Amino acid sequence: MSIELKNLSKKYNDKYAVKNLDLNIEDGKITVLIGPSGCGKTTTLKLINRLIERTSGDILFDGISIDNIDKIQLRRKIGYVIQEIGLFPHYNVFDNIAVVPKLLGWNKKKIKNRVKELINLINLKYDEVINKYPMELSGGQRQRIGVARALAADPKILLMDEPFGAIDPINREVLQDVFLEIQNKLKKTIVFVTHDIREAIKLADKIAIFNNGELVQYNSTLNIIKKP
Ligand code: ADP
Ligand code: ADP
Repeated sequence: MSIELKNLSKKYNDKYAVKNLDLNIEDGKITVLIGPSGCGKTTTLKLINRLIERTSGDILFDGISIDNIDKIQLRRKIGYVIQEIGLFPHYNVFDNIAVVPKLLGWNKKKIKNRVKELINLINLKYDEVINKYPMELSGGQRQRIGVARALAADPKILLMDEPFGAIDPINREVLQDVFLEIQNKLKKTIVFVTHDIREAIKLADKIAIFNNGELVQYNSTLNIIKKP
């Protein structure tokens, strides 16, 4: 599913967090948003999944304005992964992953099969992790579970806000590799926020560079890393 941001702006108290943003996010590709802290990356993700409302402009999903899509329908199309605190601490791994399928009213067998499939996808062992609570897992395992949870109901879009930001460099590399493997299989439309240029180059099909609420460059990763 493609996402088109058209002259999109968001103001907080008269100050632009995102300004006149035009961006075509391609179906099945990883688009990385990169830029310094406060440049509007998180705001852009929150506008896309309608956690906040835009000030002006439009957001189109496969050509259909966000105004014409029911909020619940929208949430079903989008998975959201954030840094650290994403998991519910009082739910075990199974219940964390099953949150959305339960909300959607899937039967027990379907949920269990799906959870198994997802644990397999993220390269963990079902019996070792399924009854654990987030506190009992490593940071890297937690983030994998976060990815599994976001994928549970098979959304078309994944929005990821510095998902590996709190992980040490070695485990971060491992997570990036697992993530790329998953994407090779699933081909989701992914919008991935980071401020780490190495991570951006490793993961992105396209890189959008933000500064001060505005898009300053948007190109395929190869064009960005090519020396002049
Ligand atoms: P980034 O994700 O690139 O670090 P953000 O999108 O979080 O940037 O923030 C962009 C700008 O909007 C910053 O100046 C930030 O302080 C401001 N901002 C974000 N959320 C709010 C809010 N809820 N109220 C007021 N200002 C906000
Ligand atoms: P990040 O940089 O990872 O986006 P922040 O610490 O900037 O995280 O923001 C955390 C939360 O606070 C976000 O939900 C954001 O919308 C909100 N926020 C950020 N800046 C402001 C601000 N100036 N005023 C009010 N809320 C803000």
